Amino acid sequence: MDATNRHERLVFLDRDGVINTSPGEGWVMDWADFAFAPGALDALRRLHEHGFTACVVTNQSCVARGLVGRDVIDDIHSRMSQAVADAGGRLAGVYACPHYDTDNCSCRKPKPGLIDQAVARHGGDPSRGFLVGDGARDIAAGHTRGCTTLFVKGENPLPEEPPADYVVGSLAEAVDIILRLVGEGE
Ligand SMILES: [Mg+2]
Ligand SMILES: [Zn+2]
Repeated sequence: MDATNRHERLVFLDRDGVINTSPGEGWVMDWADFAFAPGALDALRRLHEHGFTACVVTNQSCVARGLVGRDVIDDIHSRMSQAVADAGGRLAGVYACPHYDTDNCSCRKPKPGLIDQAVARHGGDPSRGFLVGDGARDIAAGHTRGCTTLFVKGENPLPEEPPADYVVGSLAEAVDIILRLVGEGE
């Protein structure tokens, strides 16, 4: 099996610290505070041009903590998706977990529920897809579904168990590797 067949054009993307700059210990609770990470819009455009289905999978416990309404989070995500489209990219869907650990939901990463929701809607085989995240919870969720995982170095320590398949400096670098793995890298 060559590299082109090993993988499917399906990518799950964490949001904070991958698509937008990390809000640190807090949350993005207003579109005015949402800033795309350097090179992220261009990276998303390249994924779209290469025929990828790109789904965002994001923990937003700020909702369960009562800090912000789900409607505000949904509005931020529609604005984000529009900005991506305006830049020539496309997000197939944005899947957000509004819960906190004590809710014991099935979607808060490291659980794979958000990936499952995306696959239920868009199809594809996650074990032949990719997951890009900047936290150990992201890598663990992707690992549970057999994704090839790419860790974006930022504020969080390198995930150890499970380790990420690749460590990169940005979403743009992650996309370079993903395109190479499907046989379309430069
Ligand atoms: Mg993150
Ligand atoms: Zn959840």
